[in-house]
Amino acid sequence: METKTSAKSAQRSSQVRISRSPAAALESSESNPWLQAMEQLNRAGAKMKMEENILERLRHCKRILTVSVPVTMDDGTLKVFEGYRIQHNLDRGPAKGGIRYHPQVSLDEVKALSFWMTMKCAVVNLPYGGAKGGVICDPSKMSIGEIERLTRRYTSEISIIIGPDKDIPAPDVNTNEQIMSWVMDTYSMTIGYSCPGVVTGKPIDVGGSLGRREATGRGVFYVTRELADVKGFDLTKSTVAIQGFGNVGSNAAKVFYEHGSKVVGVSDVTGGVWDPKGLPIPEIIDYVARQGSLAGYPGGKRIPGNEFVEVPCDILVPAAMENQITHENAGRVKAKYIVEGANGPTTNAADRILNERGVVVVPDILANAGGVTVSYFEWVQDIQAYFWSEKDINARLQEIMVRAFRDVWDMAQKEKVDLRLAAFMVGLNRLAKAVRLRGRFP
Ligand code: GLU
Repeated sequence: METKTSAKSAQRSSQVRISRSPAAALESSESNPWLQAMEQLNRAGAKMKMEENILERLRHCKRILTVSVPVTMDDGTLKVFEGYRIQHNLDRGPAKGGIRYHPQVSLDEVKALSFWMTMKCAVVNLPYGGAKGGVICDPSKMSIGEIERLTRRYTSEISIIIGPDKDIPAPDVNTNEQIMSWVMDTYSMTIGYSCPGVVTGKPIDVGGSLGRREATGRGVFYVTRELADVKGFDLTKSTVAIQGFGNVGSNAAKVFYEHGSKVVGVSDVTGGVWDPKGLPIPEIIDYVARQGSLAGYPGGKRIPGNEFVEVPCDILVPAAMENQITHENAGRVKAKYIVEGANGPTTNAADRILNERGVVVVPDILANAGGVTVSYFEWVQDIQAYFWSEKDINARLQEIMVRAFRDVWDMAQKEKVDLRLAAFMVGLNRLAKAVRLRGRFP
């Protein structure tokens, strides 16, 4: 039997983490995504009066695999990298989530990202649980051959828990279609036949889906358009600033630009550019493709990277990393709307400040779910060996994103809560139904 927790006791457990914090501790909890994620879970659980047993289960990842990945570097030396694959929850289906290569990858980060995948898949109602993988490395300092050897050995190490019915990786920060192709090939070589459904975000020629590359950026645009609709503002008269110019940021910039919004700011690891008259996004995409980054781009005013989220704009799309909008800079954000293309870019302390200031935040688990949604389409197409047109894919993506936005918006209106809490409530509701129906093994 599940026991019910009172709203108070769940609230208390979320407060424990906050109230033990003077300023310094607040900063350290802000920079730990897992603590942030658990605070979000506790907050939603308290509001919903969710059974404590269900919350307690979700405070623990189902499986955590740590692997060491030996790689022969180009100079002949051996380097051993640490990697993770974490499956947070499988109650709604196989685990799903990307693989990240970054020097700042940590166990707590990958745990949080896997939890957010569980919630994200539930919010957009995909038949998946949540997972994430990461390797602590700096791909900008590695050759293509070193990255391939790292990818193949990491895939081999995690192949004991991945598979098309078990856990399906995808791209994330610093991983791309080519890397997914190596994941697919390594897994296929291991089992002896081609298995495109083991990973999504692949190139089209090896079972990838049309529209997957643009999907996250496109999804960010679809939810922003719904937001404009319910809030009654005109996207073609709005200014947009986008932090991060990787897959998500560059495609979001492109779609906003094509639909007539004025993209006034873009940034990447080298810093940002801002021009109140609007930036020529196709030209900037070409520049970055040629030069490798925004560094040296001649147009606009240069903005230091750490000040970029404060540029004047109507809509800010953080599409880089976690922990970008914090208690420290949330008061200086000028945007009226924040649409989270990245996972975890806004800390809970920043959320409270933004809410008080009336800034509307469309949360990551809704706003950036377009990527995993088209990943789901890719997996379905691979399993059926039957491929859809780009028009069909975009139409289905739009349908799912619009429905998810409406579910979250309606919840926010009904419960008088912010959109992050509403999204968690929608996701948690769906997940809890599956948990109750399945019961506990043994
Ligand atoms: N890495 C992306 C995310 O955070 C995509 C995951 C996927 O397609 O499985 O949502």
